[in-house]
Amino acid sequence: MKNQIYPWQTGQWANITKQYHDQTLPHAFLFNGLKGNGKLHFAKCLVEFLLCERKQGSQACGECKQCKLIYAQTHTDFRLTEPEEGSAVIKVDAIRSLVEFFTLSSLQGGSKITILCPAEALNHNAANALLKTLEEPAGQSIIILISHSAGKLLPTIRSRCQVVDFDTPNQQQAYEWLKSNLSRGGGAAPPEADIAALLSLSSNAPLRAKEYYEINALVENNLMLDEMASLLKNDSIVTTVSSRWDDDLFSLRLAWTIRWLELILKHKMTGETAGVQGQHGEKMISYLAEKCSEFQLLALYRESLNQYRLFLGSSNPNKTLGFEYLLHQWTKLMSSKGVQ
Ligand SMILES: [Zn+2]
Repeated sequence: MKNQIYPWQTGQWANITKQYHDQTLPHAFLFNGLKGNGKLHFAKCLVEFLLCERKQGSQACGECKQCKLIYAQTHTDFRLTEPEEGSAVIKVDAIRSLVEFFTLSSLQGGSKITILCPAEALNHNAANALLKTLEEPAGQSIIILISHSAGKLLPTIRSRCQVVDFDTPNQQQAYEWLKSNLSRGGGAAPPEADIAALLSLSSNAPLRAKEYYEINALVENNLMLDEMASLLKNDSIVTTVSSRWDDDLFSLRLAWTIRWLELILKHKMTGETAGVQGQHGEKMISYLAEKCSEFQLLALYRESLNQYRLFLGSSNPNKTLGFEYLLHQWTKLMSSKGVQ
């Protein structure tokens, strides 16, 4: 079965397959864009296309030996490089092994390709170990770096790659994709409002929205919005909320509070309420947008992003304390008067 790119990726596909036919493919790509918009899937489709020995125009044939090896995940000239299980980091040993992989000749006589995902997981030593291969790749090597946050990469890595930006699809495309994917297998798709809410929560990244659906994230996000509203109304206290939020969903919860701040800021600056209407927290978001200054909201937004970075970058962050601190900052939004 042939892999198909997503409908919102046709522009990138046309450009890269044209480069292939024009023989102007670079040795290294950097696919950049929001997590959950299908970059890894696109990269896998590209690997299949590049390794296929009976390409049909801009498509892999899906039937030749190379295609079959790819489907069976046993193609010896392709490697997926990711953080080891339980780690958020790609270490230097993994990159040394990758460098060695590229120095050996191709067993199938074609290109040797790796997808490295996500590139921001490379630690400092690993990134440095990769530089030389990015600069002078052996033979027909192709390195595809995938990044959800290319600003975090070393400029020396970025500058050695052809950067391809992947935007999230427009609302209509995202909605249609999600609806048809959530109703696969004969089940009914969730109500329209839930699909819109899932897309709002995932910043329109359809694959992430699908993951959210699978973990029942909407219910959890609504519960959190109710808890935050209680906290802001003094019906609850910070430690009660932060201790409940300190669980396996911690990083998601933190990301959602950041998303709420984005919605409040958007509401404040543009008056737009799309993505909030009819949902839990709607009143809270409108209220805070009117009550607080941009300065206050941006300050909390920045602090939240900081905490998020600290959490992602540390192996043992004090999650509860971090959340307590942020929740205290949220409550201050209620007590403040006017522009600070
Ligand atoms: Zn093929």
